[in-house]
Amino acid sequence: MSEQSGHDTSVAEAEVVELTSELIRIDTTNTGDPATVVGERAAAEYVAEKLAEVGYETTYVESGAKGRGNVFARLEGADPSRGALLVHGHLDVVPADPHEWSVHPFSGAVQDGYVWGRGAVDMKDMLGMTLATARRFKRDGIVPPRDIIFAFLADEEAAGDYGSQWLVRNRPELFEGATEAISEVGGFSITVKDGVRAYLIETAEKGIAWMKLRTRGRAGHGSMVHDDNAVTKLTQAVAKLGTHRFPIVMTDSVREFLAAMSELTGMDFDEDDLDGTVGKLGTVARMIGATLRDTANPTMLDAGYKANVIPSVAEAIVDCRVLPGREAAFERELDELLGPDVEREWVSKLPPVETTFDGALVDAMTNSIVAEDPGARAIPYMLSGGTDAKAFSSLGIRCFGFAPLRLPADLDFSALFHGVDERVPVDALQFGTRVLDRFLRDC
Ligand SMILES: [Zn+2]
Repeated sequence: MSEQSGHDTSVAEAEVVELTSELIRIDTTNTGDPATVVGERAAAEYVAEKLAEVGYETTYVESGAKGRGNVFARLEGADPSRGALLVHGHLDVVPADPHEWSVHPFSGAVQDGYVWGRGAVDMKDMLGMTLATARRFKRDGIVPPRDIIFAFLADEEAAGDYGSQWLVRNRPELFEGATEAISEVGGFSITVKDGVRAYLIETAEKGIAWMKLRTRGRAGHGSMVHDDNAVTKLTQAVAKLGTHRFPIVMTDSVREFLAAMSELTGMDFDEDDLDGTVGKLGTVARMIGATLRDTANPTMLDAGYKANVIPSVAEAIVDCRVLPGREAAFERELDELLGPDVEREWVSKLPPVETTFDGALVDAMTNSIVAEDPGARAIPYMLSGGTDAKAFSSLGIRCFGFAPLRLPADLDFSALFHGVDERVPVDALQFGTRVLDRFLRDC
């Protein structure tokens, strides 16, 4: 691209690699136990310094506990009467065991055309692209059409209690005026046929509901005949839930995704065998398959304290993921399955979210991708997991997953999330930086 066209992103493309790599080198492991969290503050300070260096005023906020660092900066747009766009990303990463990796997970190594390390795709890649683009806008005096709020956040990997959720409850003014948002787990490509890519834009997320089950019985000696055993009752309930198939329910995001994929590939997503056809979608099959129905996967068991003592109480944790619009029906189905003898309570519950795939911002996403990858198609999809979008949706903000990456056809991208040898292609980072640049000038 020529300088005259205003599309010279060469500096941003050069520094995005370094920024991503340096962010990976700051270990921001979030185990979920607030006592062990490290590095968020250091990462926040790094980001603040990179923003201040080019002239941004930054705001540093700790969300609920010491060291839980978040950084905010605002770039004024041409039309202050329009709602702001929130561009958010999380600073923390999940743990990584160096023994399992080809390179040290906090090395940020740049080799073989990739930036390697924990966070390379979740989501220091997007932080790097956002920083590179934010710096370029300030340096080159580019004024976006409306205000942009840049937010770099703590604690996404543990549901945001010390990050986004705390911030929307305690510091909502930081997001004042924001009407739409972009962040992670969307905007990446899948290759649908030779050289033709679909870019998956996240428009919906399943709800996350962690449920505790409890059964009660009569305590007693393990050597006796005993017909009221809490452990037996609990394990029956757990097995029932774990093997239950909830009904397929088509949501708008999934329906639109399948329709677009059908157009692009010629595949026929027969409603009678959706599991079968979705299973043929290659590397995204697991991800899309999980958005066809609710799930309830038992994950933890807790009962007893001695081999020959029948305990009076047994407990289990079940990780439930619920489709938009299904919350009430899901609870009814749970009650039917579990029956009256099993007590249940929610230990954590974040609702499903969904927005529509239309409007000027969606057009801007599509146009910015097609400008950099002609022949590409942007299509909506639902994420089976959850992100900080849950917190910002609660403020009425329309949230999208849009962290653009053009990926090699054979890369199993979804396996890299929280995976061993997490890495991001250097040219994907540069591509994403060009797309973000176009998108933010047109948002
Ligand atoms: Zn993430």
